[in-house]
Amino acid sequence: MRVTFLGTGSAMPTGERFQTGIVVQEDEHTLLIDCGSGVLHRLQQSGIGYEEISSVLLTHHHLDHVADLLPLMKARWLAGEETLEIVGPQGTKAMIDGLLEVHEYMQDKLELQVREVVAGDFDVAGFDVSAYETRHSLPCLAYRFDDRFTFSGDSEAFAGLVNFAEECAILLHDCSFPDDVDVSNHPTPEKLGAELAGSDIGRVYLTHLYPHTEGRHEEMLESISAEYDGDVRFAKDLQTVTIT
Ligand SMILES: [Zn+2]
Ligand SMILES: [Zn+2]
Repeated sequence: MRVTFLGTGSAMPTGERFQTGIVVQEDEHTLLIDCGSGVLHRLQQSGIGYEEISSVLLTHHHLDHVADLLPLMKARWLAGEETLEIVGPQGTKAMIDGLLEVHEYMQDKLELQVREVVAGDFDVAGFDVSAYETRHSLPCLAYRFDDRFTFSGDSEAFAGLVNFAEECAILLHDCSFPDDVDVSNHPTPEKLGAELAGSDIGRVYLTHLYPHTEGRHEEMLESISAEYDGDVRFAKDLQTVTIT
């Protein structure tokens, strides 16, 4: 399995990290998770290409996770592609309908298959996926791909989510801010380290990075390592991780 981090930023730009987007690939299967601003360009830069993306899986409906959906639809239509499957939590159908109501000319350009999922197991784009409800300001799902890859979506750090990722090779986890930012709905490094303590996860990558984290990576890793001694790194845009 290959996992490519297209965007490791958040709702406030750093100039270098684009908004959330991750591509999961295995054999002939390709799945895009989230489609924030900049993801369409990153798909092109990564060499994967927007033509390859016929399925998108959404964690939740905040703009930094869905902003490039319509641009992706338009690019696919212009490239002669005919379909797009969009899978996400409850409300996904209403959101897509709403977007197409505003941008009326995009209606009927692609054959859209929109599907809503809840916590539990389902298939998408040839992958077996498990979903778990996170703690965020909108309903949000974390996704797990067997024992290889888990993405937290946007979430506070809590034991249930760490348990959900237990024994996974790679966990990509929201770590939006350094410790001195008073935040809810996202973790701080200290809280993330405390929840990860004692877990058995191959490697943790940190993502959803606000500009506040720039220049403070070392201190954030130290804070996590106060309680968690596992392998933790910062994710980067356009980085590919191969998981065997
Ligand atoms: Zn969010
Ligand atoms: Zn977000």
